[in-house]
Amino acid sequence: MGIFVPLHTEAGDSMKVFVSILPQKYFVDKIGGNRVEVSVLVEPGASPHSYEPKPGQMAALTKAAVYFAIGVNFEEVWLKRIASLNPQMLIVHTDRGIKKIPMASLHSHDEKGRETPPGRINLDPHIWTSPPLVRTQAENILKGLIEVDPAGRTAYAANYNAFIDEINGLESYLRDIFSGLEGKEFLVFHPSWGYFARAYGLRQIPVEIEGKEPKPAELHHLIEHAMERGIKVIFVQPQISTKSARTIAKAIGGQVVIADPLAENWTGNLRSIAEKFREALR
Ligand code: ZN
Repeated sequence: MGIFVPLHTEAGDSMKVFVSILPQKYFVDKIGGNRVEVSVLVEPGASPHSYEPKPGQMAALTKAAVYFAIGVNFEEVWLKRIASLNPQMLIVHTDRGIKKIPMASLHSHDEKGRETPPGRINLDPHIWTSPPLVRTQAENILKGLIEVDPAGRTAYAANYNAFIDEINGLESYLRDIFSGLEGKEFLVFHPSWGYFARAYGLRQIPVEIEGKEPKPAELHHLIEHAMERGIKVIFVQPQISTKSARTIAKAIGGQVVIADPLAENWTGNLRSIAEKFREALR
């Protein structure tokens, strides 16, 4: 009757949730659809190994209904503080049910017992680079969303099924890409691709050792190894400074190529990175 009635906007109704890293935003957006509004703690360009949340982010966390943790290093320091800011917030450990592997190095065992104190193995947190492990994370996300918003159960379940179909499609694409390349090695600066490599029968050779640049002798050994195997590409990621990557590339007569494990467009990004890996492995 001529009276303007403001519509309920989807954004106004949506539930505020937080994730640690950008690929998780992709997962939660897929399953939560327009019932959720996802914020990411680790800002683009920052490293989830050493992130420190901004005061504005800590304030925003007090209004969140869910925090989707994934087990990246900064959570070890911050998750308790985040939880104490907002006791009503549900914390979902999306890595639940995932068996993590030790961080990779050139040798599977360390003859000198270097740096890693006995009994304390650094487990590899990069579980989002493996489609089979993202299926487990998706299930944990689904359960968490239904727990805090049971009214959305039907919508979440439908979105989840569509996302699982997307993951299955991605997997068959990746299996095709890497068929016949099983056992091949690729060189990466920072070991983000261990679970990805394992899923498709490849082997990741990291330059970093326990998160540090290699010492000259280690660097020399790595260069020899790469030259023996005819490796011509070293993969780097934009979040991590790669002083020695160019040195290695020069020494092996190869090139530095970017493969970003933290891009938001998870499916499209893994497809294009797989193509770069295949190019390097041929
Ligand atoms: Zn990393």
